[in-house]
Amino acid sequence: MTSYVFTFGGSAQSDDPRSRDKTVVGGKGANLAEMAGIGLPVPPGFTITTEECVRYLAEGSDFSDSLRAEVAAALAHIESAVGKAFGDHANPLLVSVRSGARVSMPGMMDTVLNLGLNDRTVEGLAQSAGDARFAWDSYRRFIHMYSDVVLGLDHHLFEDALEIAKEDAGYYADVEMQAEDWQALVSEYKALVEQELGQAFPQDPHEQLWGAIRAVFDSWDSDRAKVYRRLNDIPGDWGTAVNVQAMVFGNMGDTSATGVAFTRDPATGERAYYGEWLINAQGEDVVAGIRTPQYLTRQSRERAGAKPLSMEEAMPEAFAELAAVFDLLEKHYREMQDIEFTVERGKLWMLQTRTGKRTAKAALKMAVDMVGEGLIDERTAILRVDPMALDQLLHPTLDPEAPRDLLVKGLPASPGAASGAVVLDADTAEKRAAMGEAVILVRVETSPEDIHGMHAAKGILTARGGMTSHAAVVARGMGRPCVSGAAGISIDIASRSLRIGARDFREGDVITLDGSTGDVMAGEVRTIEPELVGDFGTLMEWADRHRRMKVRTNAETPADCRVARQFGAEGIGLCRTEHMFFDDKRIAAVRQMILAEDEKGRRAALAKLLPEQRADFHAIFDVMAGLPVTIRLLDPPLHEFLPHADAEFEELSEAIGIGVDTLKRRAGELYEFNPMLGHRGCRLGITFPEIYEMQARALFEAACDVAAQGGEAPVPEVMIPLVATRKELELLKAVVDKAAGEVFAEKGRTLHYQVGTMIELPRAALMADKIAEVGEFFSFGTNDLTQTTLGLSRDDSAKFLGVYVEKGIFPRDPFVSLDIEGVGQLVELAAERGRKARPGIKLGICGEHGGDPASIAFCEKVALDYVSASPFRVPIARLAAAQAALAGK
Ligand code: ADP
Ligand code: MG
Ligand code: MG
Repeated sequence: MTSYVFTFGGSAQSDDPRSRDKTVVGGKGANLAEMAGIGLPVPPGFTITTEECVRYLAEGSDFSDSLRAEVAAALAHIESAVGKAFGDHANPLLVSVRSGARVSMPGMMDTVLNLGLNDRTVEGLAQSAGDARFAWDSYRRFIHMYSDVVLGLDHHLFEDALEIAKEDAGYYADVEMQAEDWQALVSEYKALVEQELGQAFPQDPHEQLWGAIRAVFDSWDSDRAKVYRRLNDIPGDWGTAVNVQAMVFGNMGDTSATGVAFTRDPATGERAYYGEWLINAQGEDVVAGIRTPQYLTRQSRERAGAKPLSMEEAMPEAFAELAAVFDLLEKHYREMQDIEFTVERGKLWMLQTRTGKRTAKAALKMAVDMVGEGLIDERTAILRVDPMALDQLLHPTLDPEAPRDLLVKGLPASPGAASGAVVLDADTAEKRAAMGEAVILVRVETSPEDIHGMHAAKGILTARGGMTSHAAVVARGMGRPCVSGAAGISIDIASRSLRIGARDFREGDVITLDGSTGDVMAGEVRTIEPELVGDFGTLMEWADRHRRMKVRTNAETPADCRVARQFGAEGIGLCRTEHMFFDDKRIAAVRQMILAEDEKGRRAALAKLLPEQRADFHAIFDVMAGLPVTIRLLDPPLHEFLPHADAEFEELSEAIGIGVDTLKRRAGELYEFNPMLGHRGCRLGITFPEIYEMQARALFEAACDVAAQGGEAPVPEVMIPLVATRKELELLKAVVDKAAGEVFAEKGRTLHYQVGTMIELPRAALMADKIAEVGEFFSFGTNDLTQTTLGLSRDDSAKFLGVYVEKGIFPRDPFVSLDIEGVGQLVELAAERGRKARPGIKLGICGEHGGDPASIAFCEKVALDYVSASPFRVPIARLAAAQAALAGK
């Protein structure tokens, strides 16, 4: 018989391995059981499985009798473990009800604490604890939370009532409220519920419990959970578990407390305990921003120059116990842990542990440090860092020299710098970002409803909330710079304006954030490029040791080539030559070439271009000395280079001495209905061989010149684009070979080179065996291959592809992440056929996909020799290639 419920903690600990399986009991439940299993103090409780949630949601039915029976038995287990009884008037057991999916999901139901309280048990709790204030504080918290989370009432109702009560009593802080004050507020709360719902607040603890369980299950299908799942690729059929756990109380006076902590610093990765806590508080007080939390350690308090005592100083014994728990947990999980704890009258209790979210910088440092500490091996370290997260480190930080107009300082919640226009709500952020504007989302505090806006924003700024607030945690996870808790910001939504420090701003004004320091500045501040040293370098070295595929770059300027080499590129996989043609100084000659009436005219113009192209190639070969450089001959439809405005025609006419009318007529002849499928790619070389001839000559002359300088010779790989047939390649290879032969004879030096093709048409993939008889290498041009296989225009699909992804037609944009099951088949087939005709033929990929980790994993699977990515993606590709290689072992 499968169980629906597993117990954990104390004498209630289940020994069923399923009780520690995340897929069954969710992450929170599994880790609670795990912690209890290694002897840590965990309040006893039980978990209802995710399977039961899935069943409940699918059948839309009520709870089954067997579930009810198992819950009753589990509840009895807790009762005997803690020596209290649920609903008992004298010594009541209170529980928390918490959601917990396989992975932590901010979109899920909020926790309900102190469940089991009613008008009778509150008296019993006051008696047994000897503290009436605590009992009534707990009861008002319970009514508030339960009404909000389970009964669906607006939490503002309760918050406003509390504010008014405090004001009336002349109090400033919650801690000033006395037992009678809380008791009076409870009466008000109950009246509020009755008034809003037309029925009394539920007094039966069992009714309360089942209400909360139902709310957890239902929250799996809430809108915010769905948004979160969509953004994070979480399947909708996982379901959530429900954790019911005996309460421990952090609000029992000054020897009690609650807190959250990380075993290492999640922003920097430093090996230092890190966290926040509050004396005499419960649950989410720490992250809710109601009171300012205190630092955990003395060192962190002193560094921040804060007065209120750290936990290390105020509760040395409980802190020492906590520190021992940190070490135990890290040794057990071999991972940085994010934990939640409560101290009840001096005794420490663990309420949660999970793998801590971290910045890319921290992920690197921790991975490298933990190898040094012997906690993990190199392989684990490589697999642990998300390649895409490296992006954060590859992006600019503020130039320390740049002038800054500092407005306020908040908490450095998520590192990195960002400038953008202020937007005041998530929808506006999404809208303006979709139109290409850089925006900074500014909120009092964020909540799960803001996630889409946080995603769209370049940076996030909040007026309230600590380092573990929602904004901070989510921003770090997304890699967005974030400054939180920046006091001195007031927002007026009605007039779409805000005050930052002493100055007034309107929505749309530009500000800059530095998430590494907490600085908020007016206007845009200059930034500088990052460097790949220290831990980054170490991890990259390890990755290089474990990867099989080479990583090249797509680059066409010496500057890009230099950046790419610094990032570890091992060659160029795609050097597009048309970019060189667009240069201001050359465009006249290019236009002359295109508009020439005959070959003679074209050759005259090409002669002007030759030295320019040669100089370009020379500069690139210099940077890429000794490495392979794949140069693609001219590819785009010629009319892309043509003049448009009358003035441009006149200018050109003057420059090359041909009448405007003639020029316009020639331009008209070049017009195409469907240029992407028109006169482009190798079709240019077939019709105007002299163009490819000039390019080949320029690149071989440059290669010989660089070799003559005495350094390492470059290895040119001449790539013919858009080939569909063997014959095309054969004809054009002859052009290239002839140019090479001539140049080598003139220069008295022979260099190794290859001629190959891009596989970017389905026909080329299908005919790969024939094409490989001529071509010496293939490079999969997956941008065009995707376009031509799907019959989907790269330039026009952005408008509707979003809907396709939303409706699940494609898991991701196929131009970003390779359509493995479709386009991937052509790649696989072409690789196979190409290898059959030419064993050992060199195979690479040069589409955008060469920098996408999922696509890179596919390239490893079909055993390509290299991937080629844009310069900033090179480190990502190196790591992803290593992970792919390790995954295949
Ligand atoms: P989240 O998933 O949002 O972190 P949790 O279920 O962890 O939500 O609950 C939030 C907080 O509620 C915990 O950090 C803890 O402070 C408090 N809490 C949960 N269960 C208990 C309990 N049994 N006793 C005391 N506090 C609890
Ligand atoms: Mg929470
Ligand atoms: Mg938690």
